[in-house]
Amino acid sequence: MKELQNLVRPNIWKLAPYSSARNEYAGHTAHVFLDANENPYNKPYNRYPDPLQIDVKEKIANIKDVNPECIFLGNGSDEAIDLCYRVFCEPRIDNVVAIEPTYGMYKVCADLNDVEYRPVLLDDNFQMSASKILDACDDHTKLVWICSPNNPSGNNISREEIVKVITNSDGIVIIDEAYSDFSREKNFRSELKKYPNIIVLNTFSKAWGCAAIRLGMAFAGKEIINLFNKVKYPYNINALTQKKALEIIDDYSDVHEWLRLILMERTHMIKAFRDLPICERVYPTDANFFLAKMDDAQAVYDYLVEKGIIVRNRTRVRLCNNCLRVTIGTRSENAELIGAIRQFSEAHKA
Ligand SMILES: *Cc1c(COP(=O)(O)O)cnc(C)c1O
Repeated sequence: MKELQNLVRPNIWKLAPYSSARNEYAGHTAHVFLDANENPYNKPYNRYPDPLQIDVKEKIANIKDVNPECIFLGNGSDEAIDLCYRVFCEPRIDNVVAIEPTYGMYKVCADLNDVEYRPVLLDDNFQMSASKILDACDDHTKLVWICSPNNPSGNNISREEIVKVITNSDGIVIIDEAYSDFSREKNFRSELKKYPNIIVLNTFSKAWGCAAIRLGMAFAGKEIINLFNKVKYPYNINALTQKKALEIIDDYSDVHEWLRLILMERTHMIKAFRDLPICERVYPTDANFFLAKMDDAQAVYDYLVEKGIIVRNRTRVRLCNNCLRVTIGTRSENAELIGAIRQFSEAHKA
């Protein structure tokens, strides 16, 4: 890895962040707050929220076993993804490398920030070759995007290959572990000390059942987290989101129960799909969804839409010809999908 200062955009390295009233007085002993031009009425919504979300981070630190200073919270993982570009990538000069196919936001944010995006095709089993990734990097490569378990394929990327990329890369390697709660593979969040050039992403949107509150997490060394804090909007996580996050962490046993149900249903669903004559293949998954190769994905997709059942048609994505991505729902939702797709299959028997 290069020195952090040589990876960060010079304007960001020099930036003096906006200092809000709530930043300047961070103590807990005062009781009269006349510093932020807030309305004294309409409690508790009259007050600006904690800009650094200390209470939420302390709880997350416990559950995820990381230092609170190594956590950044964003308005969804999407904010953390965008900040990676804004902190590290000089528009029209720097570039990023990513596995392909993968989550669409890495490319959207590259385009938004006018940064060159270099996709590197996975193999037919959706596995990554570290040497291909490293070959695509040059002196201006600031970030490498690895999503594991990967979306839309669902599989874990080989840990050994990820380690090769991390240890041989001059830049930052971002490992998006949005789906790691559904997997038994060891995660990279627990390796922050070993690998100072990684940023690990997690989210409240999947296993935690809180997509609506928009809360994403980035884990990295303190220096990187401080850069994110400097660039983010001062009050990026609103008070309602912080409150709900504290509640869901206290109800962590619910999350465990949801996980158990989803994993059990995943097994049933995959078996049901494999038994369909119109399904060619279900790819291995470590996530709360699976990718299935059909004889005619578009026809199945259209039929399901007619029935009011929406899955994700990935047929136009590279390596995903005729593939549908199916999220695991409740038992009754899954049963409805399987029922409809069996009907379609019967009607289209050769
Ligand atoms: C769903 C998903 C996320 C979550 O994004 P949020 O903005 O936190 O909702 C992140 N990464 C991947 C790969 C995803 O599929």
